[in-house]
Amino acid sequence: MIQEDYKRVWAKCLAVIKDTLGPENRKVYETWFVPIVPIQLEGTTLTVQVPSQFFYEYLEEHYIDLLRRVIRLQLGVGGMLKYSIVMDQSIRTAPILTTLPSQSRQSTRNPLTDLPVNLNKDNARELPNPFIIPGIQKSRVPSQLSPNYTLDNFVEGDCNRLARSAGYAVAEKPGTTSFNPLLLYSNVGLGKTHLANAIGLKTKELHPDMTVLYVTSDQFMQQYAEAGRNNTTNDFIHFYEMINVLIIDDIQFWSGKGQKTQEAFFNIFNYLHQHGCQIIITSDKAPGELQGLEPRLLSRLKWGLAADLQAPDVETRKKILRKKAQNEGIDLSDDVVEYIAYNINTNVRELEGALISLIAQSTLNRKQIDLELTRQMIDKYVQSSAREITIDYIQKVVCDYLDLPVESIQNTSRKREIVQARQLSMYFAKKITKSSLAVIGMQCGNKDHATVLHACKTIENLRQTDRHMRNIVDELEKKLSE
Ligand code: ADP
Ligand code: MG
Repeated sequence: MIQEDYKRVWAKCLAVIKDTLGPENRKVYETWFVPIVPIQLEGTTLTVQVPSQFFYEYLEEHYIDLLRRVIRLQLGVGGMLKYSIVMDQSIRTAPILTTLPSQSRQSTRNPLTDLPVNLNKDNARELPNPFIIPGIQKSRVPSQLSPNYTLDNFVEGDCNRLARSAGYAVAEKPGTTSFNPLLLYSNVGLGKTHLANAIGLKTKELHPDMTVLYVTSDQFMQQYAEAGRNNTTNDFIHFYEMINVLIIDDIQFWSGKGQKTQEAFFNIFNYLHQHGCQIIITSDKAPGELQGLEPRLLSRLKWGLAADLQAPDVETRKKILRKKAQNEGIDLSDDVVEYIAYNINTNVRELEGALISLIAQSTLNRKQIDLELTRQMIDKYVQSSAREITIDYIQKVVCDYLDLPVESIQNTSRKREIVQARQLSMYFAKKITKSSLAVIGMQCGNKDHATVLHACKTIENLRQTDRHMRNIVDELEKKLSE
C-alpha cells in the first residue's frame, strides 16, 4: 500500500509526462494533461477526474501507453488508473475503470496490461464519439487531421492542379467560395485523403478559431448507428452542426447502404451549407457514377465543385519522389529518381511504397542507394506486386481501409478495431497467399496457428451473418485484387 498523497503522485506523473512529451508537444500537454484533476488514491489505484467522456476516450486512444508508463513508475506494477467524468457543471462521477471485473482475473493478469480502460465490453468504444458530450467546447474538438498530410507536402502537377488550387481557395475562404461542397474524386492512391486533410490543416492555420473535423464516411456511419442505440441522435446532429469545416472521406462507402446515415448527413449538410460552413467530400467515383447514393444527397454534391485527381505524369512522379526522400532526410541521385519514376506508374501509393522499400533495403544492408540497388529492388517490386500479394501488403490494405496505422497489427492491443484488423489480415493472408498458418500468425502480431484458424472462422461467420462485415470483406477483396 502506498500511502502517498494523491496530489503529489499526480504531480510527479505530470512532471514525467511533460518531460516525455517535450517542449514541442506543449500544446498536447496543456490540452490533454493539465485539465486532469487527481481526486483519490486508494492503495495503488489513482482516481483522476477528466472533463468529459470524449476527453477520456481521447486519452485512452492516444496516450494510454504513456499513462501506463508513468503510473507504473509512480505506483509500481500494480498501479491502476481510474477515471471519473465530469458532465456539465454538476459533477457526475462515473468510474469507468473499476479495477478488474473479478478477483480471479485480477490474480491471473497483470493489472497494468489491463489499464486500457476498455475491459468492460459494454463500455468498449472504438471511436471517439465527441457528440455525446453535452456542452463541449468548440476548441476541444480534435480535428482528427494527420499532421503529415500537408499542402506543402502535396506535390503539384498537371494531374492535380485544379483540385489543389480549389483546395487552397477553400482553405482561405471556407464556406464562401462557390466550391461548396468541394468534391475530390479519383482512383485509389492518388491523393484524395492527403489533399482533403491538407485543406483541413491549411484552414486551421489560416483560421485558428474554426472547428475543422475530418471523419471517414465509415466512422460517421458507425457513430450515427451508435447514437441511435444510445438515444443520442440529437446530440450527434448538434455536434456535427457546430463544425465549420467538415471533411468526409470516401463517401462511396455509403453506396447502397446506410440510408438513415445518408439522411442524417443530408440534414447536416443542409444546415452547414445554409450557415456558410464548408463541406469537403472525397469519393473514388465521379459524382455521376456514384450509384446507390440517395438521389437528393447526390444532387447536393453537385452544387459545388467536383475536382478530380489524375495519375501523375513522370515529371510529377519525380517531384513526388524527391519530396518524399527529402522528408525522410535522404538524398537520391537523378538516375535513381528516374528509374523509379519510369518503372512505377500506377499510383502515388505504389510509388511511395517502392521508395520506402528501397530506403529500408539500403538501411538494413547498409548499402548506398545507387542505381544498381534501385534496379534490383524495383524490378523485384514491380514483379512481385504484379504477381504476388504479400502478407505485408494485405496488412497495409486492411489498415488503410480501417484507417489504422499498420503497426497496430503488431502491438498487443485487444481493442476491437485492432483485433478485427488483425483477423481480417489473417483471413486474407490465408485466402490469398501460400503462407502457412504459422507464418501468417507470426507476421500478424506473433500469434499461433490456432489463432489464425480461429480468425478465419470468425471472419467467415461474420461475413455470412453481418452485413457490415460482408461489405468490409467485399470492399477489401476488391482492393486486394486491384
Ligand atoms: P487516396 O485517398 O486517393 O486513396 P491518398 O491520399 O491516401 O490516396 O494518397 C496515397 C499516398 O500517396 C499518400 O501517402 C499520399 O501522401 C501520397 N500522395 C498522393 N498524391 C500526392 C502528391 N501529389 N504529392 C505527394 N504525395 C502524394
Ligand atoms: Mg483515401
